[in-house]
Amino acid sequence: MNAIQVHKFGGASVKDADGVRNLLKVLQGFQSENLCVVLSAMGKTTNALERLCKSFFNKSFDTESILLEVKEYHNDLIKELFPSGNDELISAIENIYAELHWAIEEDQIKSYDYEYDQIVSQGEQLSTRIVASYLNSNGFEIDFIDARDLLRTDNTYREAKVEWLETNSLIHSNLKFSNSSIKRYLTQGFIGGTSENFTTTLGREGSDYTASIIAYCLNAKEVIIWKDVPGVLNADPKEWGKATLIDELSYFDAIELTYYGATVIHPKTIKPLQNKLIPLRVKSFLNPNSSGTLIRENKDQKRVTSYIFKKQQYLLSISTRDFSFIVEENLEEIFKAFNKSRVKINLMQQAALTFSVCLSAEEARWTSLLQELQTNYKVKYNDDCELITVRHYSENLPEEFAKRGAILLEQRSRHTLQYVIKSN
Ligand code: ASP
Ligand code: MG
Repeated sequence: MNAIQVHKFGGASVKDADGVRNLLKVLQGFQSENLCVVLSAMGKTTNALERLCKSFFNKSFDTESILLEVKEYHNDLIKELFPSGNDELISAIENIYAELHWAIEEDQIKSYDYEYDQIVSQGEQLSTRIVASYLNSNGFEIDFIDARDLLRTDNTYREAKVEWLETNSLIHSNLKFSNSSIKRYLTQGFIGGTSENFTTTLGREGSDYTASIIAYCLNAKEVIIWKDVPGVLNADPKEWGKATLIDELSYFDAIELTYYGATVIHPKTIKPLQNKLIPLRVKSFLNPNSSGTLIRENKDQKRVTSYIFKKQQYLLSISTRDFSFIVEENLEEIFKAFNKSRVKINLMQQAALTFSVCLSAEEARWTSLLQELQTNYKVKYNDDCELITVRHYSENLPEEFAKRGAILLEQRSRHTLQYVIKSN
């Protein structure tokens, strides 16, 4: 079979009609390739749908107006892209709006995470319907396919785990590439389906991971992630004006960067690609001819110093009530509490009487964690901290970052330097 490329476009690439037109132009540069294109929700739609879900859950007054905002945004985009109308598309879009209406009119609420997935996943349904119609009506033939027919997951809503065997067979039976002709598919990122046909999501920014899962199953020759930045930079340019492009990264370094919080690619993206040695390019959709960053197996990788900033961190300090040491039994209990509340640990440090953890968590999970821990432990915390990680460091934290606040905790390994700072 001819080689297949997987392309992923994020929300920023299709935030307006010009973005969608640009996406067509970018893809036209790959006319002779078999493609699977993975698309996120348009612009800030996922954030809006998250607000919609919260508002519905809290029975707030603004549920209808948030939904209206989402509808108007997409309707305006459709009007601009299809000035003479497109009945088929409009009816597909109306169906999605209807599903959103039903979701927020439902009084039998299951769990927050379940409702979240049913509501928030509609952002990708909208974007893929619109973009598939636009591409096809502009002579770029591409088949729309629902990601729920490709990705089978368990029912851990909002953080679904991929069931690889089923996913692999779904992908092979539903994506039909051949030797004789070029074939292209467009599907949603971020979304999967359970064996009972409920929609799940893979976690925020999960579309990168979708691209990687599909590439793994198809043995793709390459994955390209199109971004609004030139590639992987050695820091977030919004945080540091001197950030520069990294031309090439090993899978190992890419995993480490995302693990410590570099948001340029979803942390789960690299593993499947590494396992099959599929190269990943991160490129700018604004400048498609530039080479971006290439991530691949490379043992003689040059080490570039990178800075990763993770904001809105809590620094928790957990100690026993009776002045006894923190021992393994305590650690077991503490980790259980984290696991139960589904809170991830970003950094930890143990001392005689306290166990310190730096973490980020949304409110509900944070509250649940505190409750769990406070049953048996004394818990103190600082909020609004920043975790700064320096990979391949050559000096202490540069002055310009140290000035951001007081250093509360420091940790150093051979390649990595980390600081928790209480923001000024
Ligand atoms: N639309 C989802 C989000 O914004 C998934 C993604 O963009 O990758 O989190
Ligand atoms: Mg997004």
